[in-house]
Amino acid sequence: MQMATCRALIAFDPDLRTLLPAPQRSLEDVPLEFKGSPAIKHEIESLGVPHTEVGSLRVNNLPAALSDRLHDGDRVAVRGVAPAQGVFNGRGQPCFIADNHLGRLAAYLRMLGFDTLYRNDYQDPELAAVAHQEERILLTRDRRLLMRREVAYGCLLRSLDPQEQLDEVVQRYALAKSARPFRRCLRCNHLLEAVDKADVLDRLQPLTRRYFEEFARCPACDQIYWKGSHYDRMLELIEHCDAPHP
Ligand SMILES: [Zn+2]
Repeated sequence: MQMATCRALIAFDPDLRTLLPAPQRSLEDVPLEFKGSPAIKHEIESLGVPHTEVGSLRVNNLPAALSDRLHDGDRVAVRGVAPAQGVFNGRGQPCFIADNHLGRLAAYLRMLGFDTLYRNDYQDPELAAVAHQEERILLTRDRRLLMRREVAYGCLLRSLDPQEQLDEVVQRYALAKSARPFRRCLRCNHLLEAVDKADVLDRLQPLTRRYFEEFARCPACDQIYWKGSHYDRMLELIEHCDAPHP
């Protein structure tokens, strides 16, 4: 016996509608046909919206979960992730893993002191596996990657511009208040250690030697940092992210 065709309507928030296939993008309610009782998550993702981008969900005007099943005649309303609503593992401070295309964003997040893994040779299965094992938020512009089953925490970046991407992440996870610049190595993500100027004097350029007093060293890769141009740049980044958004 053939299963009957069921129908439901899904209304997406405007910011999620941009992710839908072109014909559905202008629809207030997207009609959906299905058989059986699939998980809502599956149907939403089949329309191009990764589960990580769903902030909340209502079915027939009642709160629902992505794992709930869809039934004939359901009306589903899907909201995006509101600013500061971004969920993470609750370890106090979110930590991240950035995909291969997000080197600049990874460096910016490290500048602000956030634990951010990045390599330019990570493959998709590895990104998803590390994000899962270490409860990291997966940062990517690749929707297929976020739809992988093991990805619990993820953020789909909309912008191509690294500064705007940083802004997206800072807003979504409310990072401005917990930023700690001059704390983490931009090259390798390791925490920095303060060092006496005298101990690194022989490695400094004459002008750095003359004008700067506070130094830190990465114990993993031996890179030296000082509160100079890097530091000013970090402060600028934070100020920008802190600015009110219209
Ligand atoms: Zn380092």
